Amino acid sequence: MFLISSEKRDQEYIKKKNQMLILEMIRKHRPISRAELAKRTQLSATSAGRIVGELMDIGLVKETDQTSSGVGRKATLLDIDPQSILSVGVEVDRNVVLAGLIDLDGKVVAERHQSIDRPSAQPEAVAVLIAGMVAQLAEAQGMPPSKLIGVGVGMPGIVDTQGGIVVFSAQLGWRNERFASLLEEKLGLPVVLDNDLKVKALGESSAGSMPDHGKTALISIGSGLGSALIMEGKIYRGAGNMAGEIGHATVDPNGKLCECGKRGCLQTYITDVAMLQEASQIKPVSGVNELFELMNAGEAWAFNIIDRACTYAAIAVNSVVCSYNPDSIILTGDFIDTNPGAFETVLGKVRDFIGEPFAGTFELKRSELGGKSVMIGAAKLVLQQRLDRGLHENR
Ligand SMILES: [Zn+2]
Repeated sequence: MFLISSEKRDQEYIKKKNQMLILEMIRKHRPISRAELAKRTQLSATSAGRIVGELMDIGLVKETDQTSSGVGRKATLLDIDPQSILSVGVEVDRNVVLAGLIDLDGKVVAERHQSIDRPSAQPEAVAVLIAGMVAQLAEAQGMPPSKLIGVGVGMPGIVDTQGGIVVFSAQLGWRNERFASLLEEKLGLPVVLDNDLKVKALGESSAGSMPDHGKTALISIGSGLGSALIMEGKIYRGAGNMAGEIGHATVDPNGKLCECGKRGCLQTYITDVAMLQEASQIKPVSGVNELFELMNAGEAWAFNIIDRACTYAAIAVNSVVCSYNPDSIILTGDFIDTNPGAFETVLGKVRDFIGEPFAGTFELKRSELGGKSVMIGAAKLVLQQRLDRGLHENR
């Protein structure tokens, strides 16, 4: 009995995987013939043809008027309407909520922004706000919200994605909040929650000039220090969805005390707070941008603080390279994104730190999606999960 059911489960799994594969191939290489599709997916012509038929039945794939060129029999080409499937991506940050309708190509079809403030940004109020934004987005598109395939939400903090729980978010002041089910009740749509950096990495890993990068790491430097890893196009989570919390990797057991209670964590050298604390020994500075201004005005002490932060950023890059051997690393966060020159300085230092076997094995890049990356990545996550489960189930 057990054998039969597990065999059945395997067959279902393979069927969904192949469906996803076909859909992704058509999306990437459209318009494409059935023969080319079979060749690219390495499925038999019969299997590929059957799956195409299923996808046509549910309206995701259509035949075009075009036919293939070149030698041999002319074949009708298949196409896909990227806007036939729209998912919603949401970013909840300490003072703003962004929500957007995102198509299969990861393009933003429509978006909305709403300011929030910490005392009123409680889970119930934020869920009501998001539900209202999603309804407005759908209405502006002239479609019922039920047509959307789901809502992905990226937020700062430790998130239990499987349980849909915000375990702890210092930025929002939330602890053990069952936010996914709360939002599902308001929306009547499936909701997936995740940490903002993880979905940001997912969004960036398939953005613009690097569509096929399977092994992307993202390092973010700003009010905190964190990283995330995409392996074979999926978020790598570790045992408790905390993989990538490099801010608390020890670099000096005799170093400064960190907010986590340990000494010499990597983030005690790099974050905004760490740099401003150092600066206060000379003079009070309002923010990291002012520190950059002082450096540019020739203040040697400001240069020293920033230069050391860049050195530790390069150490962070080196550690991630040695641990995961990614093919690209995206360096982002306020420190990098808002201060011209910071990226180039880190890039220069990375060359000094990277050892021989790793030299030239990866590309260090800036964010390509900027402020939209969490929103796009969150939408992509919900799309991935729906495709994994089989899109036709709820359509
Ligand atoms: Zn720490």
